[in-house]
Amino acid sequence: MLNHRFVADRMIGRLARMLRLLGYDTLYQPELKPADLAELALRDDRTILTRGDTSKRFPGADKIFSVRSELPTEQLLEVIAEFSLDPKSGLWTRCTVCNGNIASVAKEQIKDLVKPKVYEIYPEFYRCAGCGRVYWRGSHVEKILQNLSIVLGREL
Ligand SMILES: [Zn+2]
Repeated sequence: MLNHRFVADRMIGRLARMLRLLGYDTLYQPELKPADLAELALRDDRTILTRGDTSKRFPGADKIFSVRSELPTEQLLEVIAEFSLDPKSGLWTRCTVCNGNIASVAKEQIKDLVKPKVYEIYPEFYRCAGCGRVYWRGSHVEKILQNLSIVLGREL
């Protein structure tokens, strides 16, 4: 169930990227003013994620969740608990950079976009429909997943 959609305010960019990694549609546009962010949240039916006192910062917004921790990993746990998010089923379906959807691509299609060695080693590649970024499950990704597994207390 990935039906929760979020918009993160400028204070919690790292949380936004982790939610994307879990597949949750999370906008992050640090240049937006709070009032514009509130309008976007209403128009798009998104929950505003922020930190600290929210009472006057987002005029008109009806769905706001303020995390307590300063640590992104703990913030993630707070959001997962609050919205009963599923950290597994959408894993690896969304681009952490632009929030676009990523999907598996035929290896030949990305041949010119990755280093020859990477192309040779990895059997599967994925591409973001938004920004075109190519992903593969290299050591960097495995490390992120491993860290997340530790935070969540379970295997991903
Ligand atoms: Zn992207």
